[in-house]
Amino acid sequence: MSQIEYSPTFQERLSTGDLELRRKSPRSLQVNVGKLCNLACVHCHVNAGPARKELMTRSTIDRVLSWFESTPSIDTVDLTGGAPEMNPEFRYFVSESRAIRPEATIIDRCNLTILVEPGYEDLIEFLVENRVEVVASMPCYQPENVDQQRGDGVFDASIVALRRLNRAGYGTGGDLRLNLVYNPLGAQLPPDQSELEADYKEALRDHFGIRFDRLFTITNMPIARFLTQLKREGKSASYHQLLVDSFNPASIDGLMCRDTVSVDWEGRVFDCDFNQMLGLPLGDRPNRYLWELDPKELPGSSIALGEHCYGCTAGAGSSCGGALTD
Ligand code: SF4
Ligand code: SF4
Repeated sequence: MSQIEYSPTFQERLSTGDLELRRKSPRSLQVNVGKLCNLACVHCHVNAGPARKELMTRSTIDRVLSWFESTPSIDTVDLTGGAPEMNPEFRYFVSESRAIRPEATIIDRCNLTILVEPGYEDLIEFLVENRVEVVASMPCYQPENVDQQRGDGVFDASIVALRRLNRAGYGTGGDLRLNLVYNPLGAQLPPDQSELEADYKEALRDHFGIRFDRLFTITNMPIARFLTQLKREGKSASYHQLLVDSFNPASIDGLMCRDTVSVDWEGRVFDCDFNQMLGLPLGDRPNRYLWELDPKELPGSSIALGEHCYGCTAGAGSSCGGALTD
């Protein structure tokens, strides 16, 4: 957990602005199906990697699915990891979710490179069949920057994967949505989302013939592997100060913790993926499993806040769906 002391604290900052963060009815079920990943990126807030063993089991998935079925307000199932596709039960989870709620948005948070790994050749076909939205990390449209953050060869593999997705109908303006995720390389805030999206679209189209739907800019959270990097570079205090100084009250209404329920690979429930990583239980109450949670309790209930929350409220705001304000 972050060792840095913030002044004012996030809670104090909310109080000064007469702002309150409370939950609404849940709309998104974000499930981390495991920490196994074929990459080990420097900014990864999950500390995922090829040696991780944590994977959600079929029996836990069945309990999560049954909660989803009994919670009609949930219209989005958002699968993350690690590389979620590396969980042997990934396809079961997706197809059962689709069967339970045919019109739901099902998201695969994909690192792209997994789509070109041996053994995953038919993955795109499966995603098409199940109308899965692909949200893919692409921290830059220049090879050196991507390889620096994610590892050698990742850029080229990502380009191959994006072309395959386009060929399958993804990112071409139809129902098969392909959204890209940008996060800064170092200790700065993301640039303006719509301007960067226009740059990405032009560069990827002109250089590689690639199309996509939306670009989401996401702020790097000062936790886990990225915090270690900041400390190593002596930038931890200045990055934290940047986040505090850039607090934007207009971001509060759209914060993802207001309508998202985040679940870890064992079925425990959190306010968001970052709190999950920090072990901060939902609403600051003792740890509970998703299946112990009555969704009717959620509207109006409190959210477990910490100083890392400044990462979501800095600048244009940041969430799994990108910037929160124009
Ligand atoms: S691809 Fe995603 S989950 Fe895997 S190491 Fe990189 S940031 Fe972490
Ligand atoms: S870190 Fe989590 S709890 Fe804090 S503001 Fe962001 S989404 Fe909400």
